Amino acid sequence: MPKCSKCGESVPAEAEFCPSCGAAVKHMRATKKSSYPIAAGVMTLIAASLCSLFTLVFSAGISSVGQRAAIYSFAYAIMGVSGTYGFVLGLIAGIFTLRRRNLPLVIVGDYALLIAYATIGLEPYAGIDSKVGVMIGPFVLVALSLIFVMKSRREFA
Ligand SMILES: [Zn+2]
Repeated sequence: MPKCSKCGESVPAEAEFCPSCGAAVKHMRATKKSSYPIAAGVMTLIAASLCSLFTLVFSAGISSVGQRAAIYSFAYAIMGVSGTYGFVLGLIAGIFTLRRRNLPLVIVGDYALLIAYATIGLEPYAGIDSKVGVMIGPFVLVALSLIFVMKSRREFA
C-alpha cells in the first residue's frame, strides 16, 4: 500500500487524497517505468536498420532487370518507396519509443515498417523462401515491439 508523502500514513491504492491529513497523493505507480519501451525501441531500431539493408539489396536487382517488364519496375518502385519510408519512420519510431514519447508517431512508424517488410514480397526474382526468410525475423521483431509499446502505452508522454 502506498504511503502519504506528507504524514506517512498508509493510503488506499486508488485514493486521490490522504484520509488522515488530506494531502494529495502522488501515485508512484503512474511514474514507475517498465523496460518494455527499451526492448521495443531496440527491436524497432534493429528492424529499421535491416529494412534499409534489405531494401538496398533487393533494389540492386533493378539494374539486372534492365528493360524487362514494366510491372517488375513498378514492383521495385513500390518496394523501394515503402522500404525507404519504413526505414526512416522506423528509425524515428525506435528513437521515440526509447524516449517514451509521441505514441501516435511510434505506432505509425511501426506500421510503416511492417508494410515495408510486407512489400519485400513484391520483389519478382528472389525465391519465395528467401523472401519469407528475410521478412519473418524483422516482422516478428516489429510485431513484438508493437505489443510491448501497447503494454506500456501509459508510460508515454
Ligand atoms: Zn497524509
